Amino acid sequence: MSNQNIYATAIETLTKAFNYFNTNLCEGKLPVPMINIMSRGRKNALGWHWSEKWLKGEQHIAELTICAEYIDRSIDQILETLLHEMAHHYNVINKIIDCNKYGRHNKMFKLAAEDIFGLIVNKHKYLGWAITELGPKSQKIIEEFKIANEVSDNFGFKRLETKVKYKKSYFVNVTKEDKEYIKVMCELQDCSEKEFMITLIGQLRRTNSRMAESVS
Ligand SMILES: [Zn+2]
Repeated sequence: MSNQNIYATAIETLTKAFNYFNTNLCEGKLPVPMINIMSRGRKNALGWHWSEKWLKGEQHIAELTICAEYIDRSIDQILETLLHEMAHHYNVINKIIDCNKYGRHNKMFKLAAEDIFGLIVNKHKYLGWAITELGPKSQKIIEEFKIANEVSDNFGFKRLETKVKYKKSYFVNVTKEDKEYIKVMCELQDCSEKEFMITLIGQLRRTNSRMAESVS
């Protein structure tokens, strides 16, 4: 059994990559953010950058997250996401607004992502200039980083998705009289309100389908 924390190793690799890209593309001017691998939750994202999300003493630190659900992609793809988020980080540091509050990426994002980080940026219908892919410059720097740090082509682990089963519930407003009626009927039939409602809906459905049959 291995006593290695593979999560910590992955964070270390991402941090090394951040520092490598920072040194080679940004003259080392970017402060190191909190680099995480976290669940995307309800977000539809490969990663995110969140400025001033953490506090150490008096100093705010940005959060740069790679979504856990997509950690089994190739290192090249993960580092492409890292470069995308670094472009946001670069813009925040340089006081450039590159997104609106709905996450629509503007031309300032495209500019930094292409010019500084060597990504190819395409326009999305709703998200604006948010679709990025590796271009020759970013591909080259990732290759150099992988060779210099003996990084393999993937982390070799993934986070399993848990399917949550939701039971459907209905909330309806009932009158005081309806409520009384349900209460009496439940006492008579010796059942719960829920059982009563389920039986009632079943009866209604069967009556309706019989009516539909007789009409057709
Ligand atoms: Zn973005």
